[in-house]
Amino acid sequence: MRRAKEQGRWVNKAPIGYSNYCSPDGLKSIILKEPEASIIRIAFEEVSSFRGTTIDAYLNAVNAGLKCSRSNFWRLLQNPVYAGNIPIAKIETPVRISPGLHVGIVTVEVFEKVQQLFRKEDKKRSVGFHPNFPLRGFIHCNKCGRRLTGSGSSGRSEKYYYYHCVSPCYNRIRTEVVSEVFLRKLKTFKLPEEYLLLYRNIVSEMYRKESNRIELGKGNAIKAIEQFADRVAKAKNLLLDAHIDFKAYGDIKRDFETKIAMLGNTISSYSKDQIEFSYRVNNAGKYLSKMDAFYTMLDEKSKRSFLNNVLTKGACWEGGSGDELFNLSFRKMYSSEQVAEIKNEDNSLAQITQLLKNLAAIKVDNRVEFEGV
Ligand SMILES: [Zn+2]
Repeated sequence: MRRAKEQGRWVNKAPIGYSNYCSPDGLKSIILKEPEASIIRIAFEEVSSFRGTTIDAYLNAVNAGLKCSRSNFWRLLQNPVYAGNIPIAKIETPVRISPGLHVGIVTVEVFEKVQQLFRKEDKKRSVGFHPNFPLRGFIHCNKCGRRLTGSGSSGRSEKYYYYHCVSPCYNRIRTEVVSEVFLRKLKTFKLPEEYLLLYRNIVSEMYRKESNRIELGKGNAIKAIEQFADRVAKAKNLLLDAHIDFKAYGDIKRDFETKIAMLGNTISSYSKDQIEFSYRVNNAGKYLSKMDAFYTMLDEKSKRSFLNNVLTKGACWEGGSGDELFNLSFRKMYSSEQVAEIKNEDNSLAQITQLLKNLAAIKVDNRVEFEGV
């Protein structure tokens, strides 16, 4: 699979705008499919030349006959295949590509211009986590395609929170509605046994490394405390033998006692890490099987990294099942129908492994008991 990609051949199902093709000598590739290819070309040109927003380009494309959801359209505009290239490793940034044997729909220049615009947009609007608007920065407006921001408004007795679009659209969606759909969807994800095993292996390996680090750190701190205590005792002898005066002894003692107290704090923070980590190890698996409960118990920082790993950037809020909110690797990971297929695709398996590693690295500070598998 990877070799085919490096040779510039597209071997999966053809992306929209192309059809699969097999040459007389048996090599698989893709060829342009009209009218989709032309519609896509116009869309790229519209976006790259600032003639309209991405959503204008999307609506024009749909009117011209393109069958594609908003979220897929967003992804389409970021797929190097349309510039005649084959993406090899999507987990690397920038995506590693090789020149494809197929014909591009747009030039590399036009494609890069669109990527630059997206990157700029991303940077400009990148915002921190806010507990009232956890999905802020991820979801886009279903009416105009702009990224939604957060706002509160005071009702008669309580405050309401909204994901809010900017002028002139002002579309707004209650944050509770979004959270409910998000959590309900998280609850439906059931992890295939294969990945649960993979996850357990990842966590055990992490545990081994982490235990070594903690043991080493603790050992060093204890050794240092012993040395300091020893030096205080020596200073005391010097005092008793009248080599130093009481003030000098007092200064030395205070100095070492401060250092010992600091080392004591270091040890207790190691112990805290140890407890947190063994909790994570013992619950490995439960997390992935009860994603909604897992997400709910995370603190703000961990929630943010969780969302960064599972959500897709630029998804338009459709208000339905919430499926479009989650990124492709995450959805692939939870799809038992695709396990066999993924096994043969080293790119997908690498993505899932990376995702599992990222999820395993999320700290769980608010520990609660939750029942699981
Ligand atoms: Zn809007």
